[in-house]
Amino acid sequence: MKKIQIFSISLGFLIVFLLGFGANVLFFNDDSIEVYANNNMETIVIDAGHGGYDVGCIALDGTQEKDITLDIASSTGELLEEAGYNVVYTRTSDNVSWPEDNKEDLQSRIDIAEDADANYYISIHINSSDYNDGASGYETYVDFNDDEMVEMAESIHAQLELLNYAQDRGLVDTNETPLYVVSNNSIPALLLEVEFITDTNDFNYMVNNGDDLSQAIANGIMNSIEAEEISKEV
Ligand SMILES: [Zn+2]
Repeated sequence: MKKIQIFSISLGFLIVFLLGFGANVLFFNDDSIEVYANNNMETIVIDAGHGGYDVGCIALDGTQEKDITLDIASSTGELLEEAGYNVVYTRTSDNVSWPEDNKEDLQSRIDIAEDADANYYISIHINSSDYNDGASGYETYVDFNDDEMVEMAESIHAQLELLNYAQDRGLVDTNETPLYVVSNNSIPALLLEVEFITDTNDFNYMVNNGDDLSQAIANGIMNSIEAEEISKEV
């Protein structure tokens, strides 16, 4: 009986020693430290609007919204990843994982975010107007009852304003103008219309300064998350 107890205690020490050794190995390995850090960071879903069968709106030169949103969403996501955030993409190419059905398409995007247990869902779109050059600028659809997401939307707009490329059209309340991926999402969400594809100035700015737009969107998201964390600590 006593022998078994001593054996158990020794085994216990051995396990604790091995666990400690394992932790040391993890901490002295650069890759593992990065994984460890990422586990404490927020998960952000970046949704490139449209894709596959759904081209979105079309510019005068034939450029399709789905290609612009993929460009901006991909670079925005990369910037967030570089900063250490966990980024989940609803799509990373024109090959979409959902069927050719608008409702299933949008619900699949929400499912991806919910399966990832994400903290934020950011949908990137490009606006269009029936009248060429009749409307321009950026606007964001968000639930006005969700203070944190309203603040994030304002933070993104503040960064876009610094670029001085188009007018700030403000925020739109999804309680009044419901949008599927915001209104039916259990993950805090917003949908940003970056510019008008039908406006010459907006469109040219995107073609020549797409990276600046992605940087501004990423900065706006990160500033808002950091401000939120500081307010939680106080
Ligand atoms: Zn769109």
